[in-house]
Amino acid sequence: MSALVAIVGRPNVGKSTLFNRLVGYNKAIVDDQPGVTRDRNYAQVKIGGKPVTLVDTGGFDPDLKEGLTTQVREQTLMALEEADLTVFLADGRQGLSPHDRDLLDILRRSGRPFLLAVNKIDGPEKETALSDFYALGVEPVWPVSAAHGYGVRDFIDHLAGLLPELEAEAPPADRVRVGVIGRPNVGKSSLVNRLIGEDRTLVAETPGTTRDPVDVTVKHGGRSYLLVDTAGIRRKGRVSLKLEKYSIMRALKILERCDVALLLIDSAEGVTDQDAHVAGYAVDRGRGLILVFNKWDLIKDQRTELKRVKAALDLKMKFLSFAPYLTVSALTGLRTGRIFGLIDEVFAQYSFRASTGRVNRVLEQAVQAHLPPYVGRRRLKFYYGTQVATRPPTFVLFANRPEKVHFSYQRYLANCFREAFGLDKVPVRVLLRPRQKQER
Ligand code: GDP
Repeated sequence: MSALVAIVGRPNVGKSTLFNRLVGYNKAIVDDQPGVTRDRNYAQVKIGGKPVTLVDTGGFDPDLKEGLTTQVREQTLMALEEADLTVFLADGRQGLSPHDRDLLDILRRSGRPFLLAVNKIDGPEKETALSDFYALGVEPVWPVSAAHGYGVRDFIDHLAGLLPELEAEAPPADRVRVGVIGRPNVGKSSLVNRLIGEDRTLVAETPGTTRDPVDVTVKHGGRSYLLVDTAGIRRKGRVSLKLEKYSIMRALKILERCDVALLLIDSAEGVTDQDAHVAGYAVDRGRGLILVFNKWDLIKDQRTELKRVKAALDLKMKFLSFAPYLTVSALTGLRTGRIFGLIDEVFAQYSFRASTGRVNRVLEQAVQAHLPPYVGRRRLKFYYGTQVATRPPTFVLFANRPEKVHFSYQRYLANCFREAFGLDKVPVRVLLRPRQKQER
């Protein structure tokens, strides 16, 4: 489970430069997966050996100009609410601004862990610019140059030390962890209430301070489901929730802890770019995903609308054609009862395991049915494969020239596994590796 670290600060202080440098210094974790989220606002990295989801909040408003202080305040509030650690970045060349003071005030009052770094300090001689910052009484102040690297290593070491020890959460053996995500007002809390329904025996699993996630167990048809972080969903009326682009941070956090995500989409509004974006993130994190078109009660011409839904999925969510979808109304209860069955189905596939024998039979047949291409004078050769992980099912195939395997052939092989193992509703990963040298 990775910690969420968010970089906040005024426009043009160098947030994205620092983000890129932190990503550059700290190897991305999933480096051979063709990720679907193309924006550079989030990255999965390892810092001091710990997995971290790094968020550049500046990326939410790339064109934000100096002066729009409310926006930056909202970003900061949202980061404080969601992140395990917030990095406040100021501009050492411009010096301390009243707006910085205001933001630092928010950070201090929150009682949440944060770090103060001052950027554009390109060498020790520039550190005199820091005196105003030292006078703030926030200790320590980290002078850095995101562009040139000065001070960044020390800063990273310190940051690594502050990262909370997030234990890899052992998934409960008997329950599937379900996350409900989506833009503000799509009906997340209405759906959660609907799923909880008449079950008055529900127990909050984790101590419910306002910050900590509150998980709720729901029983349905003799099975148990763990709805994760319902506090985040049901907490209402926070200023920081007004701007929908910042709600992505909450989705990231919930995706960190669930097996199957229900992505709610407002049927009346259709699939928005942000919906597609969050769906892409769910896929990158390798989660099971169900697209739930809510507020279906508001749709008059349902047949036409259903066609539009399908067209939108083909257009905007081609990359997750495996994700099943459902049209429901959290308000009336229309088809919400079907959600549990679909979760079961997705979760069963998500937890699928195959023996190495079966994997190799499929691999052999796949290669025979569709021979891999030549690379130079030799044909690409696959030696053997094995399933290395589940949730999601992940297969490693050993080949003579793995780097030469075209993405389309990799996808073909993934589809062969999908078909052979009946994995039509979940992400399936196929990783390619060079054959290990035999010990003599
Ligand atoms: P959240 O911000 O995603 O948690 O959304 P809420 O659950 O608070 O719902 C936002 C608004 O949409 C509320 O006024 C709900 O009553 C309404 N709403 C939620 N689900 C439905 C639905 O299926 N149909 C209709 N017509 N309204 C809904």
